[in-house]
Amino acid sequence: MVHQGVFRGPSDLHLHSDHSDGTESPARVMAAAHRAGLGTAALTDHDTTSGWAEAAEAAVSLGMTFLPGMELSARYEWRSVHVLAYLFDADDAALRVLTDRIRSSRLTRAREMADRIGRDYDLTWDDILSQTAVGATVGRPHLADALVAKGHVRDRGEAFAGILHPGSDYYVDLYAPDPVTAVAAVADAGGVPIIAHPAGRAGLLPSRVIDEMLDVGLAGFELGHRENVEPALSRLRQLCAQRDLIVTGSSDYHGAGKPNQPGEFTTTDEMVARIISGATGGAPVFPS
Ligand code: AMP
Ligand code: FE
Ligand code: FE
Ligand code: ZN
Repeated sequence: MVHQGVFRGPSDLHLHSDHSDGTESPARVMAAAHRAGLGTAALTDHDTTSGWAEAAEAAVSLGMTFLPGMELSARYEWRSVHVLAYLFDADDAALRVLTDRIRSSRLTRAREMADRIGRDYDLTWDDILSQTAVGATVGRPHLADALVAKGHVRDRGEAFAGILHPGSDYYVDLYAPDPVTAVAAVADAGGVPIIAHPAGRAGLLPSRVIDEMLDVGLAGFELGHRENVEPALSRLRQLCAQRDLIVTGSSDYHGAGKPNQPGEFTTTDEMVARIISGATGGAPVFPS
């Protein structure tokens, strides 16, 4: 039986599985969330919803509430912007066109980067495929894992600091919509859009872009995230208070792919309730 509207904290609303660049299956991610003492967890793989069913089943069998989510790729000028999307309609046609286009561009781009790297290092496309689950959203982390497996670097961090860095000759851009388009697509699909790690070292987006995103339905910001830094964080905290926006905190768990651990940042019950009540495209899956 489904219990409407009942969820339990603590809540971590940003976790990745091997359906994108996490290293564990959705069920294992939910098990890790459960071990960390979480009562509610979201799966937010990059540009895909394919892990939802497995994660939902695992979460509720462990007595947790599951919040379906996604981290949608966007770009403003040279910098990547990640839009967390919660409780949207996964069958929304326009959003599907967008995520299909991003994922297919990611594949082309990964092949091109692998070709370029392969000119200087012992690395083939098969090496990347063997690090990528079938159907997963491919990204630089899979290239990093292949470079680690081949002994060219020690870990993902070293790969990102060098061979995979945007300033490297091996780097190729992926197609990603501008942040206003991405936020609008999530809102139009009945979802709740929240900007992920919005106060990283690249600094804040221009306030004009933030205003435009708010105009098309941006609901809030992920202020609790290990990559956020001052002074950008305090400025955003002020903005969220002034405009009564949703504020979340989450781990951005990637399994063994990053040091981030489930529950290292969490979202308050009040904010989770606002996300649930603000969505028209979907609902959480509650434990029976
Ligand atoms: P991509 O979207 O393919 O360009 O790859 C970006 C992804 O790589 C992000 O989603 C991060 O999770 C991951 N990432 C970025 N920097 C690092 C790092 N230093 N170590 C591990 N993963 C990283
Ligand atoms: Fe990632
Ligand atoms: Fe991200
Ligand atoms: Zn993420």
